[in-house]
Amino acid sequence: MLVIMLGPPGAGKGTQSVRIAEFLGVPHCSTGDMLRDACKQQTELGQKVAETMRSGRLVPDSLVEQIVAERLSTPDCRKGCVLDGFPRTLQQAKDFDRWADANSRPIWIVVEIQADEETLFERLLDRGRHDDDREIIHERLRQYELLTLPLSNYYQSRGVLRVIDGLGHPDEVFERIKTTIDKIDTPAQQQKK
Ligand code: AMP
Repeated sequence: MLVIMLGPPGAGKGTQSVRIAEFLGVPHCSTGDMLRDACKQQTELGQKVAETMRSGRLVPDSLVEQIVAERLSTPDCRKGCVLDGFPRTLQQAKDFDRWADANSRPIWIVVEIQADEETLFERLLDRGRHDDDREIIHERLRQYELLTLPLSNYYQSRGVLRVIDGLGHPDEVFERIKTTIDKIDTPAQQQKK
């Protein structure tokens, strides 16, 4: 049961990903977390990645794809997982489709959490992470619009996209997600039909 989370920085994607994973009983796999872990190892690659992440830009597709493929091949992801932060470019999405096909791991749903830019900006500034100053927030939002937003149409055309209003309390947003999920057959139910 693979779930992909889409949504701009500040939309509440991380919080909701954790809740969905718990609800479905599968791991939460955040590429941001995995990359931050990689940065802690003082390798040359780790330092390069850290520099890119600090700037608000995206790290190379091939690197993230490799990390995700390795993570999904571990036993705890056999039943599926909630992918938070991946794919983030059309190239990643297309490569991942090929991987999912080849490994018989179909994407179940793509949950896109939407919020307006003003709300996103306020939330990101409030969060007060050291890397979240105004310029970097702008860069992260710009990268999202430029590189990740096209994935919305991509998954819409495949019939797997579900759009969720990200405004309001996290509990309310999660209720919206649950209502949406409840209406969709699980992969096992889909196979029986
Ligand atoms: P996040 O915690 O999801 O906001 O990710 C933090 C940073 O990690 C991003 O700003 C990117 O630099 C990098 N990153 C995370 N996921 C990806 C991805 N799928 N492709 C490229 N870069 C990524």
